[in-house]
Amino acid sequence: MIDIAANLTHVNARIENARSLSPHGQQVSLLAVSKKQSADNIRQAFLAGQLAFGESYAQEALGKIDTLSEPDIRWHFIGPLQSNKCKLIAPHCDWIESVDRLTLAQKLNRYRPAGMPPLNICLQVNLFGEASKGGVALEPLTDLAAEVSALPRLRLRGLMAIPPRQAEPARQREQFARIRAAWLVLKQDFPNLDTLSMGMSGDFEAAILEGSTRVRLGTGIFGERD
Ligand SMILES: *Cc1c(COP(=O)(O)O)cnc(C)c1O
Repeated sequence: MIDIAANLTHVNARIENARSLSPHGQQVSLLAVSKKQSADNIRQAFLAGQLAFGESYAQEALGKIDTLSEPDIRWHFIGPLQSNKCKLIAPHCDWIESVDRLTLAQKLNRYRPAGMPPLNICLQVNLFGEASKGGVALEPLTDLAAEVSALPRLRLRGLMAIPPRQAEPARQREQFARIRAAWLVLKQDFPNLDTLSMGMSGDFEAAILEGSTRVRLGTGIFGERD
């Protein structure tokens, strides 16, 4: 049996260790990626002190958000989002980390209820030309950031990236350093950006050493997904 609480203790210690070694002096938060995990597994993580959860599929996310009504729980949407799901998702998440086009941002802005705080947004970047993954390339990034930051119901917070899988820590760090460089350039125009969401179960320590402020871990907490 997977011991979710023990896994959380273990990964939090590894995160803190990597953070203490990072030259960037940043804070790092943990997003527990709960896609394909049961509401019961999520509840176990929550009872062990984990508050932020990441989901990738709209229908699945909505079902769990409905089931788990603990007021302190925070939901991040991190998967490819279809325009026709924005209306359902915008009122129920705290963050959308996978915005990569203006039409999506406009829909989220339109459907974020006026009585709620603005929806936190990360732009997903795709800096390594991977056609299989979403994300905006480097060249159109600044324009997209300007357009998104002008939308009143959204709050642009930073970037999210899923770089190619690399076995070698040195290669992992090279890729993360490039993502951080893009983030720093963007921060010149948007100094309030505070989030660099990068690093997963297989490479989060390299990401932290290169300045990640949020790592997104699924298997490292919950075990292998079906
Ligand atoms: C699934 C997923 C993760 C977590 O991956 P693990 O390798 O299980 O840690 C992180 N980020 C995104 C965007 C994902 O889709």
